[in-house]
Order: sequence, then structure tokens, then C-alpha cells
Amino acid sequence: MTTIRTTCSLCGEVELLPSELNLELTALSGSGAYLFSCPTCGDSQRRPATHRVVSILLATGVAYEVVDDGGRITESEIAEFAEALDSTDWMEQLSS
Ligand SMILES: [Zn+2]
Repeated sequence: MTTIRTTCSLCGEVELLPSELNLELTALSGSGAYLFSCPTCGDSQRRPATHRVVSILLATGVAYEVVDDGGRITESEIAEFAEALDSTDWMEQLSS
């Protein structure tokens, strides 16, 4: 059975089943956050999920919901995004 290894901020490394996590996807961005209750201490944890983490969690069958972040993309944000694509070190920025 697939288990997902993550960390609890109190206990450190924990293993969870896909059914024990919930994923929140932010519309448009493709990233989001995942939520779980730590199996060891019971604490509710909320962790940011990058696009890569989102892909992995979806592939394991984690339940998800799409949340609207309420913000609209402004023209300056689009310009910044286009600029970032033009810069030569964009790959480094994405992986940092
Ligand atoms: Zn814990």
C-alpha cells in the first residue's frame, strides 16, 4: 500500500495513508497546501505543496478540493511573470 512520508513540526518524520491527507489546490497556480492530522501527536498540520508535491499526492489518490485564492492576476504580475521567463536563471528560481 502506498504510504506518504512527510514531517510533523512536532514529531518529525511520519507516515500517512493517502486517505489521511487532504489537498487544497489553489486555482490557477497549480500549487496549494496539504493538511493532515499527525498520527503520533494528533496535531493538525498544514503544509505548503509545490506543483511537484501536488502531482505526487494526486497520483497516490489523495482527496483534494480546489480553493479560490480570491485574488485576481494583475497586469503587473503578468509582466513580472513574463520577465521571469525571459531571464536566464528562471530554472534556478523555480527550484529554490
Ligand atoms: Zn506530530
